[in-house]
Amino acid sequence: DQTLFEYGQLIQKKASLEDRLRDTIQQPAVTLDGQQVTLTANIEQASDAAEVRAVGAEGVGLFRTEYLFINSETPPGEEQQYKAYRSAAVALDPLPLTIRTLDLGGDKLMAHIPLPREMNPFLGWRAIRFCLQERDIFREQLRAILRASAQGNVKMMFPMISGLDELLQATAIVEEHKAELRNEKIPFDENIQIGAMIETPSAAIVSDSLAKRLKFFSIGTNDLIQYSLAVDRMNEKIAHLYEPTHPAIVRLIKATTEAAHRHGIKVSVCGEMAGDPELCALLLGLGVDELSVSPPLIPPVKFLVRRLKMSEAKSLAEFALDCESAAEILGRCQVLARQIAPSLFENK
Ligand code: PEP
Ligand code: MG
Repeated sequence: DQTLFEYGQLIQKKASLEDRLRDTIQQPAVTLDGQQVTLTANIEQASDAAEVRAVGAEGVGLFRTEYLFINSETPPGEEQQYKAYRSAAVALDPLPLTIRTLDLGGDKLMAHIPLPREMNPFLGWRAIRFCLQERDIFREQLRAILRASAQGNVKMMFPMISGLDELLQATAIVEEHKAELRNEKIPFDENIQIGAMIETPSAAIVSDSLAKRLKFFSIGTNDLIQYSLAVDRMNEKIAHLYEPTHPAIVRLIKATTEAAHRHGIKVSVCGEMAGDPELCALLLGLGVDELSVSPPLIPPVKFLVRRLKMSEAKSLAEFALDCESAAEILGRCQVLARQIAPSLFENK
């Protein structure tokens, strides 16, 4: 009875917060001092694209394509993938659809693509490393993405890039498949924007080299935190060490936005950190241009952005860059968020 009562209360509180956020949905994501913030959604299947506009997002910042593979008995070939990407691109057009190439491995496993048992799967044969070797699978996906780019505003990004060599190999393969499609007279967007996830510390550190060759970055804080702090993101026993506001993370994000802006490209954050209303001011203050979050989190994040001044976000970031304690940085973030948008936190 007590449990039912408590959950009933939670349901009521959630409904009342949703009511309060409803007005925000169609309003722009602009700070009180006029800074435009791009808010996009993370999706996991093509059909999710339908709800993106309904929650007030300006496109998709991360389409996790591995679920197309996980949810099928056999690997989806080029045609099946093309149909999925095209339907999402058409549903969103002219809003962008950022398709991430296969991020298999680590926590994302597939029955029909057996991976060897590894001592450290998160450090192993995964994501872009897998695709650079399994060239047939990569080819089918790249062709499907390129073909879909003829039908909407499609961007492509590579996961788990750990350095320049991997990026150069991946982009060379894209060029090969572009040439192939040209020869076959199959249309695609010649100017498709290509970006990379910054989710390894090495990528953040060499982000200058990567930025020169790319059109955008998307910081994957879920993995960036795991790899930088050496804390398995799935391990409850060490969850207390998984600290998004760790000074090392703050500095890596800052290094990434600075490198990107030096080369005139934009930076999104698509890890869970972006959807945490307590942390988004810090990200914006560190120079992040776009937040890509799961669709239900778009309204609360937008609600907060609309009550924030960039000057406050910048002071918070300056404090964080100077601070030596994750807990202190988190404390400051919480104080600011609660001060400017208290109603978001009433139930917490
Ligand atoms: C991330 O690592 O932050 C990310 C968005 O990728 P995923 O959670 O799919 O690994
Ligand atoms: Mg990741």
